[in-house]
Amino acid sequence: MDEPISLTEARQEMVDSQIINRGISDERVLNVIRDVPRHIFVQESDINNAYSDHPLPIGQGQTISQPYIVALMTSLLNLTGDEKVLEIGTGSGYQTAILASLAKEVHSIERIEPLLHFAENNLHKLGLKNIHLHIGDGSLGWPDAAPYDRILITAAAPEISKDLLRQLNITGRIVCPLGGRWRQTLEVWVKEKKGLKKEKILPVVFVPLRGAHGWQDL
Ligand code: SAH
Repeated sequence: MDEPISLTEARQEMVDSQIINRGISDERVLNVIRDVPRHIFVQESDINNAYSDHPLPIGQGQTISQPYIVALMTSLLNLTGDEKVLEIGTGSGYQTAILASLAKEVHSIERIEPLLHFAENNLHKLGLKNIHLHIGDGSLGWPDAAPYDRILITAAAPEISKDLLRQLNITGRIVCPLGGRWRQTLEVWVKEKKGLKKEKILPVVFVPLRGAHGWQDL
């Protein structure tokens, strides 16, 4: 895709200074982030900030996550290319594009219709064929395409529901910001034959997950 050289350079610089410098070394993840044009997933007025080290507004009170956090969550998913992935919180579609470049199939759910259209339009420009976008309450998962090998929640969840866990394969993993309304911990849960293995990664701040198993409107 043709793009101004300044944006290509900003993207490469972002990967070096924000992502590799903070310890992410998975080459597959790094290569995809070097390739995917993040600037097509932000608002037009923010194109020149698309590669900055922070989240950005995408309308409807929602945000596209900080590049480092997208890289970290993606690497925590341990994708090999064969997986069916569920993403909860499509937002801009940027994380969806990253997942689709590293997995077999991605289902992504968004509850705000104008954002789903925004994502659809953004993703269309990349021509990725293995993405299925859905409108609905992702806190319930998306049973129609279950089971999944990976589940990524890109909004702050107070809990991971049994509904969602049922939609995950054994040995599958969930990456999710879990905790309070204003502060969470990024966690990785791996589903084992008996029970779950849980690991806390680092403190994060995400917009709230809404819906049946999310935060109720204030
Ligand atoms: N992955 C996105 C981040 C978007 S922010 C990106 O790369 O741009 C989180 C998104 O989760 C918001 O768009 C919000 O509307 C959505 N969301 C919140 N609760 C949800 C729910 N219950 N189901 C589906 N989407 C939800």
